[in-house]
Amino acid sequence: MKIKVLGCSGAEFPGHNPPGFLLDREILFDAGSLTNVLDKYAQAKIKDIFITHAHLDHIRGISFLADNIIVAKRRQRVNIISIPSVIKTIKRNLLNDSLWPDFTMIPDYENAVLRYRELKSGKTMRINDYKITAYRVTHSVPAVGYMVEDAKNKRFFYTGDTGPTDSTWKKVGDKKIHCLIIEVSFPNSMRDMAILTGHLTPQLLKEELMKIKQMPEQICITHPKPQHFKAIKKELEGLKIKNLRLLKDGDIIRI
Ligand SMILES: [Zn+2]
Ligand SMILES: [Zn+2]
Repeated sequence: MKIKVLGCSGAEFPGHNPPGFLLDREILFDAGSLTNVLDKYAQAKIKDIFITHAHLDHIRGISFLADNIIVAKRRQRVNIISIPSVIKTIKRNLLNDSLWPDFTMIPDYENAVLRYRELKSGKTMRINDYKITAYRVTHSVPAVGYMVEDAKNKRFFYTGDTGPTDSTWKKVGDKKIHCLIIEVSFPNSMRDMAILTGHLTPQLLKEELMKIKQMPEQICITHPKPQHFKAIKKELEGLKIKNLRLLKDGDIIRI
């Protein structure tokens, strides 16, 4: 599996794009970065977008992609996939014909640019040769992470935004995770803020990793706040965990 990191930042500044992870050019996990990074050819290949939760830094690219498809008069249909409560929030608050057009009705329902597909937590969807399962995580709003398994039983798990959680790791069970893409948003000095807002610090990450039955082969860190990047980087290095890497925009993850 090859994943291109379109963005992996916990806020937006020049050179720091919000989260977007592109698998095989067609399947996107979170849409914080999309049209700001991908050219028109790459945008035209996208078929499925899995959303972890409905915070703006994870969904905003959907709006601009849909608009670009219509303007280009492309016959492209994109599935927006998530748990029912996330779909409901996007429907009600983003693509609501007020803040932005309802692209599930444009040009008409039959040929609409966007289509919602619900995936309940704990359930698996098959896309191409992949099995993709949603697992609830702990955040300030309903949120899931996605476990992706390919035909050779290689797996990655993308947490999206999460604070400390026991139930997620229990549900994931003893499945080997070859690559864990997990968030760390704040430095250790902001532990209380991290727990309050459903995020992790380097120390909290260490505590989470101890809950996982088999240590992942690769650990990729996403979502650091750029304002605290240096402190987070130093504290992550201090954990002395091998195969741990702090992602940057444009990176490629191979699994
Ligand atoms: Zn969030
Ligand atoms: Zn976020």
